[in-house]
Amino acid sequence: MSKTTATPDACGNLSAGGETSGEMLVRVYEYGCAREAIRGMDAAIDQILRRNELWNRIVEIDNEIRTKMDAVLHAGPQEDHLAGLRQGLTELRTRLAQVRADAKSSLIDSAQLVAQIRTAVVEIQTILAEVKQIRKANARENRPLLRELNSERLRRIQEAQVSAGLYWCNRTAVVRNYEVARARAMKEGRRLKGRLCNGAGSVCVYFQRGLQVAAVFGDNGRLQIDPVPEEAWNSPSRSTRRRLARTNVRMRVAVNAGGPVWLELPMTMHRPLPEGAVIRWATIVREQIGLAWRHRLLLTVRTPACQNARSADAVGVDLGWRITPEGLRVAYWCGTDGRHGTLVLRRADLLAFKQIGALQSAIKAAHEQAKSFLRSYLDRQALPAPLMERASAALSSPSPRLLVTLLQEWRASRFSGDRYGFGRISAWQKQHIHLWTWQANLRDQLIRKRRELYRCFAAELASRYGIAFVNDVPLRRIVKRSLVVCENIPAQRQNRFVAAVSVLVRILQNAFEKNSGTLTRIQSAGAMMACYSCGTLDQWNPAETLTHTCSHCCTTWDQDFNASLNLLRRGLAARDDTC
Ligand SMILES: [Zn+2]
Repeated sequence: MSKTTATPDACGNLSAGGETSGEMLVRVYEYGCAREAIRGMDAAIDQILRRNELWNRIVEIDNEIRTKMDAVLHAGPQEDHLAGLRQGLTELRTRLAQVRADAKSSLIDSAQLVAQIRTAVVEIQTILAEVKQIRKANARENRPLLRELNSERLRRIQEAQVSAGLYWCNRTAVVRNYEVARARAMKEGRRLKGRLCNGAGSVCVYFQRGLQVAAVFGDNGRLQIDPVPEEAWNSPSRSTRRRLARTNVRMRVAVNAGGPVWLELPMTMHRPLPEGAVIRWATIVREQIGLAWRHRLLLTVRTPACQNARSADAVGVDLGWRITPEGLRVAYWCGTDGRHGTLVLRRADLLAFKQIGALQSAIKAAHEQAKSFLRSYLDRQALPAPLMERASAALSSPSPRLLVTLLQEWRASRFSGDRYGFGRISAWQKQHIHLWTWQANLRDQLIRKRRELYRCFAAELASRYGIAFVNDVPLRRIVKRSLVVCENIPAQRQNRFVAAVSVLVRILQNAFEKNSGTLTRIQSAGAMMACYSCGTLDQWNPAETLTHTCSHCCTTWDQDFNASLNLLRRGLAARDDTC
């Protein structure tokens, strides 16, 4: 199970000796590790905690400097006005969502709200344009001060790195992650957030120049995998493959006086690394699934993109999702060879996904009940002062975590006469852990199952077609399609999470690249409603029915089929234009 997360990056255009110059692909290979027989985990956890501490320190510095910078750029009273308008808009949108959720509400209510929202949006845009001008002017005036703040930020982050006590690879990873996250947060106008230091996280090693794939099976000083025989991947017997694929991975996590400190885990190398590739990063991820810990090895490799001739057959894939009688339709595809079909998540899987939601409600209800018990208990019985503080924090928080913390401290400082209260809260915790573990395992299981389904779908398309076109829809528009009510089944917001279209896109991209095919995103706005047969663009509401009959040529079609075929034609036309 591998996934492509990064984008191809170009290497030199001119190279000596007639070698193929061209694109490099960056791909992540993922391998599962065992839970037992791990060595050196303490040192790894120490690094994980230090990584999270460094992250939190950097976030603190970043937010402090951002606050100072914002004060310099502040556009005066207009800024507060804008904040007020935004707050108002959020409230209007929440109300609209409530009105829509309650199907019995009159249409007039929602129409009024929609009009109010439109007015608010226009107002915000006007003010925002002004605010932006003022901020720009402030930036121009205060350029030296802003520069100074920026160098203060860099200097303090440098200091934080030095005192973090991290192995240099882990330090590099934190700083790189921060740079990416910072750019994104600035763009989206939000602040960075700290991380919990609960033992979850990752450790990694980095190869600046890349480590040849073959060298990973040797005595490298940072990363070693015990050699795996070829039969582990090509034996006809599944059990042989399974047995032979078991091996061990060692990753350097620190250096002490005696030399390198290794983390060693049993792992299953179920697929080989591509020949001629180099490893840039190796990461061991430690994550909690329910109460158990799970470890995975991620190898980020760079491979030269293959230039082999591939089938010239093309396929259009319309992504989005809607409820159909068979289940949740996630994609409709249509090929130049005349074949077409759908990708559907079956009803049984949908119900299982819904169970995750039901468990969440049960967790919440039990937590509320425990809180209301605690409230009434505190009316009758006072707790010692330090516990009292914890209790009031737990009561005002929506997160069960604080109630767990209260219980932990309570356990450490029991007092006479507390048996009833302590017993009730302990019983809640027991149930909470049970439900929470159940939910975490179920989610994990379903996500794996879905990934497998998507992977098979993508592999089949990629083996049949060399060229794929998918619709380039902003996620927001995909969500809108979810609000379509079809065949009297109410749409569920949750379906967005269930369908995970972005995951499917990534898997498709990976499958086509692996088979030397191409996947291109096509602007799909507008023409998706035009009849594939004659091109007529009727005025109709696609939210009402799945099928449409063209007013001109009287052809009746499924709108997703129509969209995928139009997508295919658009893609091919664009290709012809550029060739
Ligand atoms: Zn037509």
